Amino acid sequence: MTAASAVDVVRDPTGVERDAVVSVRGLTMGYGGTPVLAGVDLDVQRGEVCALVGPNGAGKSTTVEILEGYRSRHGGDVTVLGVDPQHPTRAWRSRIGIVLQTCDMPPDLTAGELVERFAGFYPHPRPVDETLGLVGLQDRGASRAGTLSGGQRRRLDMAMALVGDPELLFLDEPTTGFDPSARQQAWSVIARLRELGTTILLTTHSMEEAEALADRVVVLVAGRVVADATPATLGGREQADAVVRFRLPSGTSVTELPAFDLAQAVIDRDHVVVTPAGQDDVRRLLDWAHDRHVTLVGLTVQRPTLEETYLALTGGVR
Ligand code: ADP
Ligand code: MG
Repeated sequence: MTAASAVDVVRDPTGVERDAVVSVRGLTMGYGGTPVLAGVDLDVQRGEVCALVGPNGAGKSTTVEILEGYRSRHGGDVTVLGVDPQHPTRAWRSRIGIVLQTCDMPPDLTAGELVERFAGFYPHPRPVDETLGLVGLQDRGASRAGTLSGGQRRRLDMAMALVGDPELLFLDEPTTGFDPSARQQAWSVIARLRELGTTILLTTHSMEEAEALADRVVVLVAGRVVADATPATLGGREQADAVVRFRLPSGTSVTELPAFDLAQAVIDRDHVVVTPAGQDDVRRLLDWAHDRHVTLVGLTVQRPTLEETYLALTGGVR
Protein backbone atom coordinates (compact mmCIF):
# COMPACT_ATOMS: atom_id res chain seq x y z
CA MET A 1 0.00 0.00 0.00
CA THR A 2 1.29 3.45 -0.83
CA ALA A 3 2.16 5.41 2.27
CA ALA A 4 -0.02 8.49 2.63
CA SER A 5 2.25 11.08 4.13
CA ALA A 6 1.93 14.84 4.26
CA VAL A 7 -1.58 15.84 3.34
CA ASP A 8 -1.83 18.97 1.25
CA VAL A 9 -5.21 20.48 1.74
CA VAL A 10 -6.40 23.14 -0.68
CA ARG A 11 -9.67 24.95 -0.96
CA ASP A 12 -11.42 24.91 -4.30
CA PRO A 13 -13.45 27.96 -5.38
CA THR A 14 -16.56 26.59 -3.65
CA GLY A 15 -14.66 26.49 -0.37
CA VAL A 16 -14.57 22.70 -0.14
CA GLU A 17 -11.37 21.33 1.31
CA ARG A 18 -9.76 18.68 -0.83
CA ASP A 19 -6.64 16.66 -0.67
CA ALA A 20 -4.74 17.89 -3.72
CA VAL A 21 -1.54 16.08 -4.58
CA VAL A 22 -0.91 18.42 -7.49
CA SER A 23 -2.12 22.00 -7.46
CA VAL A 24 -1.37 24.39 -10.32
CA ARG A 25 -2.61 27.97 -10.63
CA GLY A 26 -1.90 30.35 -13.49
CA LEU A 27 1.09 28.39 -14.74
CA THR A 28 2.96 30.15 -17.54
CA MET A 29 6.00 29.05 -19.48
CA GLY A 30 7.61 29.64 -22.85
CA TYR A 31 10.64 28.70 -24.88
CA GLY A 32 12.63 31.67 -26.18
CA GLY A 33 10.06 34.35 -26.83
CA THR A 34 7.28 31.89 -27.63
CA PRO A 35 4.66 31.34 -24.94
CA VAL A 36 3.72 27.69 -24.48
CA LEU A 37 1.64 27.64 -21.29
CA ALA A 38 -0.75 30.56 -21.01
CA GLY A 39 -2.09 30.25 -17.46
CA VAL A 40 -2.82 26.61 -16.68
CA ASP A 41 -4.97 25.65 -13.66
CA LEU A 42 -4.93 22.01 -12.67
CA ASP A 43 -5.60 19.93 -9.57
CA VAL A 44 -4.98 16.25 -9.10
CA GLN A 45 -6.61 14.73 -6.03
CA ARG A 46 -5.08 11.96 -3.99
CA GLY A 47 -5.84 8.53 -5.47
CA GLU A 48 -7.06 9.96 -8.75
CA VAL A 49 -5.96 9.05 -12.27
CA CYS A 50 -5.92 12.28 -14.25
CA ALA A 51 -5.40 12.24 -18.03
CA LEU A 52 -3.90 15.35 -19.58
CA VAL A 53 -4.86 15.30 -23.24
CA GLY A 54 -4.46 17.73 -26.11
CA PRO A 55 -3.05 18.09 -29.62
CA ASN A 56 0.67 17.80 -30.29
CA GLY A 57 2.46 20.87 -29.05
CA ALA A 58 -0.33 21.84 -26.61
CA GLY A 59 2.15 21.87 -23.73
CA LYS A 60 1.43 18.53 -22.01
CA SER A 61 5.05 17.41 -21.67
CA THR A 62 6.15 20.89 -20.64
CA THR A 63 3.53 20.85 -17.88
CA VAL A 64 4.53 17.38 -16.71
CA GLU A 65 8.25 18.27 -16.72
CA ILE A 66 7.54 21.36 -14.60
CA LEU A 67 5.58 19.22 -12.12
CA GLU A 68 8.40 16.66 -12.02
CA GLY A 69 10.87 19.42 -11.13
CA TYR A 70 12.82 19.09 -14.38
CA ARG A 71 11.84 22.42 -15.91
CA SER A 72 11.43 25.85 -14.40
CA ARG A 73 8.38 27.95 -15.08
CA HIS A 74 7.89 31.61 -15.83
CA GLY A 75 4.94 32.25 -13.56
CA GLY A 76 2.13 30.83 -11.50
CA ASP A 77 1.87 28.75 -8.33
CA VAL A 78 2.69 25.06 -8.39
CA THR A 79 2.61 22.61 -5.52
CA VAL A 80 3.35 18.90 -5.87
CA LEU A 81 3.06 16.83 -2.69
CA GLY A 82 3.24 20.05 -0.73
CA VAL A 83 6.50 21.20 -2.35
CA ASP A 84 7.26 23.72 -5.08
CA PRO A 85 8.92 21.48 -7.69
CA GLN A 86 11.25 24.35 -8.58
CA HIS A 87 12.95 23.58 -5.26
CA PRO A 88 13.00 19.79 -5.18
CA THR A 89 14.47 17.89 -2.26
CA ARG A 90 15.77 14.34 -2.24
CA ALA A 91 12.97 13.28 0.11
CA TRP A 92 10.38 14.80 -2.22
CA ARG A 93 11.87 13.06 -5.26
CA SER A 94 11.67 9.72 -3.49
CA ARG A 95 7.87 10.12 -3.23
CA ILE A 96 7.46 10.52 -6.99
CA GLY A 97 7.71 7.99 -9.80
CA ILE A 98 8.56 9.03 -13.32
CA VAL A 99 8.42 6.89 -16.43
CA LEU A 100 10.43 8.52 -19.17
CA GLN A 101 9.37 8.26 -22.78
CA THR A 102 12.53 6.31 -23.60
CA CYS A 103 14.93 4.77 -21.17
CA ASP A 104 18.18 3.01 -22.06
CA MET A 105 19.02 0.14 -19.78
CA PRO A 106 22.16 -2.00 -19.64
CA PRO A 107 21.13 -5.07 -21.72
CA ASP A 108 23.27 -7.51 -19.72
CA LEU A 109 21.64 -6.89 -16.36
CA THR A 110 18.60 -8.96 -15.49
CA ALA A 111 15.23 -7.38 -14.82
CA GLY A 112 15.60 -8.27 -11.14
CA GLU A 113 19.08 -6.71 -10.91
CA LEU A 114 17.90 -3.50 -12.54
CA VAL A 115 14.94 -3.12 -10.22
CA GLU A 116 17.19 -3.97 -7.25
CA ARG A 117 19.59 -1.19 -8.29
CA PHE A 118 16.83 1.36 -8.43
CA ALA A 119 15.49 0.17 -5.09
CA GLY A 120 18.78 1.37 -3.57
CA PHE A 121 17.85 4.99 -4.35
CA TYR A 122 14.76 4.96 -2.16
CA PRO A 123 14.26 5.05 1.60
CA HIS A 124 11.29 2.63 1.64
CA PRO A 125 11.45 0.53 -1.49
CA ARG A 126 8.82 -1.95 -2.47
CA PRO A 127 10.24 -5.51 -2.50
CA VAL A 128 11.74 -6.36 -5.90
CA ASP A 129 9.55 -9.46 -6.45
CA GLU A 130 6.42 -7.54 -5.56
CA THR A 131 7.41 -4.76 -7.96
CA LEU A 132 8.02 -7.20 -10.81
CA GLY A 133 4.67 -8.83 -10.01
CA LEU A 134 2.93 -5.49 -10.16
CA VAL A 135 3.98 -5.00 -13.78
CA GLY A 136 3.36 -8.64 -14.72
CA LEU A 137 7.06 -9.53 -15.00
CA GLN A 138 7.15 -11.95 -12.04
CA ASP A 139 8.53 -14.71 -14.29
CA ARG A 140 11.12 -12.46 -15.91
CA GLY A 141 13.27 -11.50 -12.93
CA ALA A 142 16.19 -13.61 -14.18
CA SER A 143 15.88 -12.51 -17.83
CA ARG A 144 18.45 -10.09 -19.18
CA ALA A 145 16.94 -6.74 -20.17
CA GLY A 146 18.27 -7.18 -23.71
CA THR A 147 16.15 -10.31 -24.20
CA LEU A 148 12.83 -8.70 -23.26
CA SER A 149 10.24 -7.68 -25.85
CA GLY A 150 9.48 -3.99 -26.37
CA GLY A 151 6.32 -4.20 -24.28
CA GLN A 152 8.13 -6.05 -21.49
CA ARG A 153 10.89 -3.42 -21.49
CA ARG A 154 8.35 -0.66 -21.10
CA ARG A 155 6.87 -2.52 -18.15
CA LEU A 156 10.37 -2.84 -16.73
CA ASP A 157 10.63 0.98 -17.06
CA MET A 158 7.47 1.13 -15.00
CA ALA A 159 8.88 -1.29 -12.44
CA MET A 160 11.89 0.99 -11.97
CA ALA A 161 9.57 3.92 -11.38
CA LEU A 162 7.44 1.88 -8.97
CA VAL A 163 10.10 0.23 -6.82
CA GLY A 164 10.31 3.39 -4.70
CA ASP A 165 6.60 2.91 -3.83
CA PRO A 166 5.73 6.39 -5.12
CA GLU A 167 2.64 8.25 -3.98
CA LEU A 168 2.48 10.05 -7.29
CA LEU A 169 3.33 8.67 -10.71
CA PHE A 170 3.88 10.67 -13.90
CA LEU A 171 3.39 8.84 -17.18
CA ASP A 172 4.02 10.85 -20.35
CA GLU A 173 2.34 8.96 -23.21
CA PRO A 174 2.84 5.57 -21.58
CA THR A 175 1.50 3.50 -24.48
CA THR A 176 2.36 5.47 -27.62
CA GLY A 177 3.63 3.01 -30.21
CA PHE A 178 2.43 -0.07 -28.33
CA ASP A 179 0.75 -2.96 -30.07
CA PRO A 180 -2.74 -3.77 -28.74
CA SER A 181 -1.60 -6.53 -26.39
CA ALA A 182 1.25 -4.48 -24.86
CA ARG A 183 -1.17 -1.61 -24.44
CA GLN A 184 -3.69 -3.84 -22.68
CA GLN A 185 -0.96 -5.04 -20.29
CA ALA A 186 0.13 -1.47 -19.53
CA TRP A 187 -3.50 -0.53 -18.88
CA SER A 188 -3.90 -3.32 -16.38
CA VAL A 189 -0.73 -2.20 -14.56
CA ILE A 190 -2.13 1.33 -14.33
CA ALA A 191 -5.52 0.03 -13.16
CA ARG A 192 -3.82 -2.06 -10.46
CA LEU A 193 -1.82 0.96 -9.26
CA ARG A 194 -5.01 2.96 -9.06
CA GLU A 195 -6.52 0.25 -6.85
CA LEU A 196 -3.45 0.51 -4.62
CA GLY A 197 -4.16 4.22 -4.20
CA THR A 198 -1.33 5.64 -6.32
CA THR A 199 -2.13 9.07 -7.71
CA ILE A 200 -1.38 9.16 -11.43
CA LEU A 201 -1.02 11.96 -13.94
CA LEU A 202 -0.72 10.63 -17.46
CA THR A 203 -0.70 12.22 -20.86
CA THR A 204 -2.19 10.48 -23.85
CA HIS A 205 -3.36 10.94 -27.42
CA SER A 206 -5.84 8.14 -27.11
CA MET A 207 -9.35 8.92 -25.93
CA GLU A 208 -9.89 5.20 -25.57
CA GLU A 209 -7.02 5.17 -23.08
CA ALA A 210 -8.36 8.21 -21.22
CA GLU A 211 -11.80 6.61 -21.03
CA ALA A 212 -10.42 3.26 -19.84
CA LEU A 213 -8.12 4.66 -17.15
CA ALA A 214 -8.91 8.18 -16.07
CA ASP A 215 -11.16 9.50 -13.34
CA ARG A 216 -10.74 12.94 -14.85
CA VAL A 217 -9.74 14.31 -18.24
CA VAL A 218 -8.11 17.71 -18.63
CA VAL A 219 -7.98 19.05 -22.19
CA LEU A 220 -5.10 21.37 -22.97
CA VAL A 221 -5.18 23.39 -26.18
CA ALA A 222 -2.40 25.87 -27.01
CA GLY A 223 -1.34 26.09 -23.39
CA ARG A 224 -4.79 26.60 -21.92
CA VAL A 225 -7.18 24.21 -20.19
CA VAL A 226 -10.37 24.20 -22.26
CA ALA A 227 -12.18 21.41 -20.37
CA ASP A 228 -11.75 19.54 -17.12
CA ALA A 229 -14.30 16.85 -16.26
CA THR A 230 -14.92 13.14 -15.89
CA PRO A 231 -14.78 11.14 -19.14
CA ALA A 232 -18.57 10.70 -18.97
CA THR A 233 -19.37 14.40 -18.58
CA LEU A 234 -16.62 16.09 -20.61
CA GLY A 235 -17.93 18.84 -22.86
CA GLY A 236 -21.53 18.20 -21.74
CA ARG A 237 -21.42 14.73 -23.30
CA GLU A 238 -24.02 13.13 -21.09
CA GLN A 239 -26.51 15.90 -21.83
CA ALA A 240 -25.90 15.93 -25.58
CA ASP A 241 -28.55 14.62 -27.96
CA ALA A 242 -28.14 11.01 -28.88
CA VAL A 243 -27.80 9.41 -32.28
CA VAL A 244 -30.18 6.51 -32.88
CA ARG A 245 -29.24 3.96 -35.49
CA PHE A 246 -31.02 0.81 -36.63
CA ARG A 247 -31.44 -1.30 -39.72
CA LEU A 248 -34.48 -0.38 -41.80
CA PRO A 249 -36.81 -3.36 -41.24
CA SER A 250 -37.30 -5.34 -44.44
CA GLY A 251 -40.51 -4.52 -46.24
CA THR A 252 -40.63 -1.14 -44.56
CA SER A 253 -40.12 2.16 -46.28
CA VAL A 254 -38.72 5.18 -44.50
CA THR A 255 -42.03 6.98 -44.86
CA GLU A 256 -43.70 4.39 -42.60
CA LEU A 257 -41.37 5.12 -39.73
CA PRO A 258 -42.75 7.15 -36.81
CA ALA A 259 -42.89 10.83 -37.43
CA PHE A 260 -39.34 11.95 -36.94
CA ASP A 261 -38.76 15.37 -38.27
CA LEU A 262 -37.59 14.31 -41.74
CA ALA A 263 -34.44 16.39 -41.40
CA GLN A 264 -33.52 14.20 -38.44
CA ALA A 265 -33.49 10.86 -40.22
CA VAL A 266 -31.12 9.87 -42.98
CA ILE A 267 -30.43 6.54 -44.62
CA ASP A 268 -26.84 5.39 -44.39
CA ARG A 269 -26.61 2.25 -46.58
CA ASP A 270 -29.31 0.00 -45.06
CA HIS A 271 -29.36 1.83 -41.72
CA VAL A 272 -31.57 4.63 -40.53
CA VAL A 273 -29.67 7.25 -38.57
CA VAL A 274 -31.70 9.69 -36.49
CA THR A 275 -29.89 12.68 -35.10
CA PRO A 276 -30.36 14.53 -32.85
CA ALA A 277 -32.65 12.08 -31.09
CA GLY A 278 -34.33 12.92 -27.80
CA GLN A 279 -35.92 10.54 -25.32
CA ASP A 280 -39.36 11.02 -26.95
CA ASP A 281 -38.01 10.04 -30.35
CA VAL A 282 -36.63 6.82 -28.90
CA ARG A 283 -39.94 6.06 -27.15
CA ARG A 284 -41.96 6.67 -30.31
CA LEU A 285 -39.66 4.44 -32.30
CA LEU A 286 -39.89 1.59 -29.76
CA ASP A 287 -43.70 1.93 -29.52
CA TRP A 288 -43.93 1.81 -33.29
CA ALA A 289 -41.78 -1.33 -33.46
CA HIS A 290 -43.74 -2.95 -30.63
CA ASP A 291 -47.13 -2.25 -32.23
CA ARG A 292 -45.95 -3.68 -35.55
CA HIS A 293 -44.11 -6.65 -34.05
CA VAL A 294 -40.96 -5.44 -35.76
CA THR A 295 -37.48 -6.10 -34.41
CA LEU A 296 -35.13 -3.15 -34.83
CA VAL A 297 -31.99 -5.00 -35.80
CA GLY A 298 -28.72 -3.31 -34.83
CA LEU A 299 -30.44 -0.68 -32.68
CA THR A 300 -28.03 1.65 -30.89
CA VAL A 301 -28.64 4.85 -28.96
CA GLN A 302 -25.36 6.70 -28.57
CA ARG A 303 -24.17 9.94 -27.02
CA PRO A 304 -21.15 11.54 -28.68
CA THR A 305 -18.06 9.43 -28.05
CA LEU A 306 -15.20 10.85 -25.99
CA GLU A 307 -13.23 11.05 -29.23
CA GLU A 308 -15.96 13.14 -30.92
CA THR A 309 -16.23 15.38 -27.87
CA TYR A 310 -12.46 15.80 -27.77
CA LEU A 311 -12.33 16.69 -31.47
CA ALA A 312 -15.07 19.27 -30.96
CA LEU A 313 -13.15 20.78 -28.03
CA THR A 314 -9.86 20.91 -29.89
CA GLY A 315 -11.27 22.24 -33.16
CA GLY A 316 -10.78 18.91 -34.88
CA VAL A 317 -7.07 18.68 -34.06
CA ARG A 318 -5.76 15.45 -32.55
P1 ADP B 1 2.99 18.29 -26.05
O1 ADP B 1 3.65 17.40 -25.05
O2 ADP B 1 1.59 18.68 -25.68
O3 ADP B 1 3.06 17.77 -27.44
P2 ADP B 1 5.21 20.07 -25.50
O4 ADP B 1 5.10 20.53 -24.10
O5 ADP B 1 6.22 19.02 -25.80
O6 ADP B 1 3.77 19.69 -26.05
O7 ADP B 1 5.57 21.30 -26.43
C1 ADP B 1 4.84 22.51 -26.42
C2 ADP B 1 5.46 23.48 -27.40
O8 ADP B 1 6.75 23.83 -26.95
C3 ADP B 1 5.67 22.91 -28.80
O9 ADP B 1 5.42 23.94 -29.72
C4 ADP B 1 7.10 22.51 -28.81
O10 ADP B 1 7.63 22.57 -30.11
C5 ADP B 1 7.75 23.52 -27.90
N1 ADP B 1 8.90 22.98 -27.18
C6 ADP B 1 8.91 21.88 -26.40
N2 ADP B 1 10.12 21.66 -25.85
C7 ADP B 1 10.92 22.66 -26.31
C8 ADP B 1 12.30 23.01 -26.12
N3 ADP B 1 13.09 22.27 -25.33
N4 ADP B 1 12.75 24.11 -26.76
C9 ADP B 1 11.96 24.87 -27.53
N5 ADP B 1 10.65 24.60 -27.77
C10 ADP B 1 10.14 23.51 -27.17
MG1 MG C 1 4.55 15.45 -25.23
